Amino acid sequence: MAKAKKWVYSFGGGKAEGKTEMKALLGGKGANLAEMTNLGLPVPAGFTISTEACRAYFEGGNKRPPGLDKEVDANLKKLEKAMKKRFGDAENPLLVSVRSGAAISMPGMMDTVLNLGLTDEVADAFAGRVGDDRFVWDAYRRLIEMFGNVVMGVDRDSFEEVLQTVKDNRGAKLDTDLDTEGLKEVVRRYKRVYREGVGEDFPQEPRRQLDHAIDAVFGSWNNERAKTYRRINDIKGLIGTAVNVQAMVFGNMGQTSGTGVAFTRDPSTGANVFYGEYLMNAQGEDVVAGIRTPQPISQLEEVDAEAYRELVDIRGRLEKHYTDMQDLEFTIEEGTLYMLQTRTGKRTAAAAVRMAVEMVEEKLIDKETALMRVEPGQLDQLLHPTFVPSALEGATAIAQGLPASPGAAVGKVVFSAADAEEWVSRGEKVILARIETSPEDIGGMNVAKGILTSRGGMTSHAAVVARGMGTCCVAGVGAIRMDYASKTFTVGEVTVSEGDEISLDGSAGKVYCGAIVTQDPELSGYFGTLMGWADETRKLGVRTNADTPHDTEVAVRFGAEGIGLTRTEHMFFEGDRIVSVRKMILAETEEDRRAALAELLPLQRGDFEGIFRAMEGRPVTIRLLDPPLHEFVPHDEAGQQKMAEALGLSVEKVKATVEGLHEMNPMLGHRGCRLGISYPEITEMQARAIIEAALNVKAAGVDVHPEIMIPLIGTLAEFTHQETVIRRVAEEVMDQRGVKIDYLVGTMIEIPRAALTADEIAERAEFFSFGTNDLTQMGCGFSRDDAGSFLGDYVELGIYEKDPFQVLDQGGVGKLVRMGVEGGRATRPDLKVGICGEHGGEPESVKFCHRVGMDYVSCSPYRVPIARLAAAQAVIEEKAAAGAAKPGAAGKKKAKKAKKAKKAKKAKKARKKG
Ligand code: ADP
Ligand code: MG
Ligand code: MG
Repeated sequence: MAKAKKWVYSFGGGKAEGKTEMKALLGGKGANLAEMTNLGLPVPAGFTISTEACRAYFEGGNKRPPGLDKEVDANLKKLEKAMKKRFGDAENPLLVSVRSGAAISMPGMMDTVLNLGLTDEVADAFAGRVGDDRFVWDAYRRLIEMFGNVVMGVDRDSFEEVLQTVKDNRGAKLDTDLDTEGLKEVVRRYKRVYREGVGEDFPQEPRRQLDHAIDAVFGSWNNERAKTYRRINDIKGLIGTAVNVQAMVFGNMGQTSGTGVAFTRDPSTGANVFYGEYLMNAQGEDVVAGIRTPQPISQLEEVDAEAYRELVDIRGRLEKHYTDMQDLEFTIEEGTLYMLQTRTGKRTAAAAVRMAVEMVEEKLIDKETALMRVEPGQLDQLLHPTFVPSALEGATAIAQGLPASPGAAVGKVVFSAADAEEWVSRGEKVILARIETSPEDIGGMNVAKGILTSRGGMTSHAAVVARGMGTCCVAGVGAIRMDYASKTFTVGEVTVSEGDEISLDGSAGKVYCGAIVTQDPELSGYFGTLMGWADETRKLGVRTNADTPHDTEVAVRFGAEGIGLTRTEHMFFEGDRIVSVRKMILAETEEDRRAALAELLPLQRGDFEGIFRAMEGRPVTIRLLDPPLHEFVPHDEAGQQKMAEALGLSVEKVKATVEGLHEMNPMLGHRGCRLGISYPEITEMQARAIIEAALNVKAAGVDVHPEIMIPLIGTLAEFTHQETVIRRVAEEVMDQRGVKIDYLVGTMIEIPRAALTADEIAERAEFFSFGTNDLTQMGCGFSRDDAGSFLGDYVELGIYEKDPFQVLDQGGVGKLVRMGVEGGRATRPDLKVGICGEHGGEPESVKFCHRVGMDYVSCSPYRVPIARLAAAQAVIEEKAAAGAAKPGAAGKKKAKKAKKAKKAKKAKKARKKG
C-alpha cells in the first residue's frame, strides 16, 4: 500500500521538519519559521499544514483531506507538550495563531487570526491565574473580532464602532487606556455583534475554532482578492496556501512586552543600517495599523537593552545565513524576544542596487549574485529625474492620470506642438498639454519637458512616443477639461492657463500646480559600479534606437555602444521639413520629385552629421524610408487647405493625392523597400545624405561607421535592387571626394519570408537586424493597430502567455528569428546580427537574443541599462543551466566546450569590429 501522504510539518524546540528550500510545500512563512527554528533562533513552536493539503481541500470539494484532522490532533499534542500548556484548558491554556502563507507572499489572502483557543471559560480561568488579567480580555476581544471578521466575514466596522463607543463612554483615548472592566464590556458587546453577524454564538470549543480557521485559510486562496492579485502580478504555478498554527506569545502583556517589524537594511535607500519600528504593549499588526505611533527600532535599546542586543545579533545572523536583506517580525513577551517571521525584504530599485554592490564589498555575495539581485526592468526608476522628496512634501496633486512615462517634469503649460517649439526656442521649459497627441505633434513633444493628455491609455500615441523619448508623461487625466480656444485647462475649481507652471510625476501619474524642485538621476556611484560588472559579464552588445542627436547623447550616457536603428522619417516632421516631404509626395514627374528631394538632402545630411558626431566612431545603423507615404499628408480639410497654400496647389489636387495614397491595408502596402523600388531617387538621396555626412564628419576627425539598412525585404532580388542603387551613389560620392570610408549595406529581417530565405539574402546583405515588431505582426498575423481589441483577452485566457508585441513570442516568432540567424550565418559566418524591435529592451527577450547568438540588441535610450543588465543575467543563467545539466561533467568534455566557446568568441569579436 502506498504510504499515506504527510500533510503537517512541525517546528519547535530547536528542531523543525521543514526548511527554506521547502517553500513550495510549506509556503514562504512556514519554510522560514522552520529554518529559523533549525538555526536555533527563538521561534514559538508550531506546525505547518502543507500547500498540498490546500490543493487536496479543493480537489475534494472544499473538504479537509482524509488524515489531515488526525495529523493536526497529533501535532497539537506535540505542541502542548513542548509548551507545557493545553489547548482549551482552563487552568493553563495554549493559545495559537493561525497564519496563511503561500510560496510567494501575497496580500489578499486570509489575514492572521490571533489568540485562538480562548473561550468564555478559558478566559475567566486564565484571567484568574495571571497577575494582570487585562491582557487576557484584550486578547479575547481581538480573537472575537479577528475570527468574526476574517473567518466568518462579519463587517469589521461593526466591531470598530462598538470599540469606539466603549472608549468614548469611558473617556479612553487609546485602546491601551481601556482597563479590565472596559475590555470585558467590549468582549460582551463583541459577542453580540458576532451573533448578529453570523447567526450563532461565538464558538466555545477551541478545536472547532481551529477547524473553521483552517478551512477559511484554504478558502481564501481562491477568493477574488487573491485571484486578482495573482493575475495582476502574473503569479502562476502555485498549488495553494499553507496554514501555520503557532503557539501565541504576547506583546500585549504590559510595558515589558511589545511587538515590531524590522528590515536588516534600509529598504528605501539600501543603507546598511538596522531599520524598523516597534510598539510596547501591543499585539499583531498594531504597529502597521497606525493606531498608535510606533517608535524607531534604535529606541528599543533604551527600553530593553538586552532584547535589543539580541535582536541586533539576530539581524546579523539572518543576513549572513540568507545572504540577503531580510524583513523581520518579532514580539517581546515580558522581556523575552521571539521571532515570528523572516523573509527576503522588498526594496526600491535604488536600494536593490546599493545593497547588491555593498554586499559584494562585504564579501557576503559574489558579483554574479549581485547582478541577479536587481530586476532589470526596475532600473527604469533610476534613470529619470525625480522630485526632491522634501520639495514634494506638502504639495497636493490637482489630478490623477496614468503613469504613462516615468520621471518628473516642471514647465509652463502650452496647448499645441507649434507653441511648444516656439516657447522653447525662446528658452522656456514647457509642458505640452493636449486632449491627445498625433504624429504631427512629434516636434513639440520632442522639445517639451513633459506631456499631459486628458484622453488615451498606456498605449496611446502620447504614452508610446513619450516612453520612447524618455519624456515624462501623464496620460488620460479624465478630470481635466482642455480648452484649446482659450488656452486653458480646468480641473474642478482650478483653472490653468497658458504659461502657468505645473509639475508632472510620470511615475505616479500625478499633476501638480506650481514648480516642484527636481533632481537628476545618479548614474555613477552604486549604479555605475553594478553596470560596470554587467558590462564585464555580458557578451551581447547593446545599442540604441535613436532618431535625433539628442536621443543619441542620452543613450551614450546610458552606455549605448552604437545605434541599431535610426528612423530617418522621424525627422520629417520637424520644423517645416514636412513641406519638402509633401512636395516630394505630390510630384508628378521624376524631375519634380528630384527637385523636392534636393531640398531634403541637406536637412537629412545635417541630421546624420549630428548623429555621427554624437556617436564618436561607434557604429550607426540608418534605415531608409519605411512608412507608407499617406502618413505624411494631412487627412483633414483644414490641413489639406494649409498644405495646398504652402505648395501653391489647388485643394482638389491635394485631396486627390491623399485619396490616391489610401490603402486598405497600409502596413502590408506600399512601404519599406517597395517605396525605394518604385522611386529609386528617394533611395539615392538618402544614400547620398548618409555618405556625404559620414565624409564630412570624418574630415573633421571623427571616426564613422555607417550601416545602411534596407527595410521590409522579403526576397534577395529586392535587396539586390536597392543595394545596387546605394553602392552606385556611395562610390560616386566617394570618388568625387577622393576619400573612402567603410560602410555596410544590410537589411531588416521583418517579413517571415526573409527569415525563411535568410541564407539567400545573406549572400549580399552584410548585416541583419531583426525588426520584431513587424515580424510579430506578420508572424502571428496580428495587426499592430487592431490587435489591442482582443489581445488583452488572449493574455487573460492564457492563449498567449504575454502580449507578443511586448515580450517576444519565443515559441513562434522566436523560431523565425533563430532560423534567420542560422540561415544567414550558414552563408556568411561573420554576418553581424542584431535586433531593433521593441523587444530589444525587454529583459526576457534580450536573454533570448543572447541564446540565439546575436551580436547586439538595440533599444530606446532609457532601456539601454536594462538591456545591459539583462544581457549579463543571460550569461549567468546560461552558466547555471550548463552546470545543472551536467553535474560533474567529464573534464575532457568541458575542455572541448571551452575551446569551442573561445573560437566562437573570436569570430564574434571579428564581427564586432566591423
Ligand atoms: P502577514 O502575512 O500579514 O504578515 P502574519 O501571519 O505574519 O501575517 O501575522 C501578522 C502578525 O501577527 C505578526 O506580525 C505578529 O505580530 C502576529 N502574530 C502571528 N503569529 C503570532 C504568534 N504566534 N504570537 C504572537 N503574535 C503573532
Ligand atoms: Mg497582513
Ligand atoms: Mg507577517
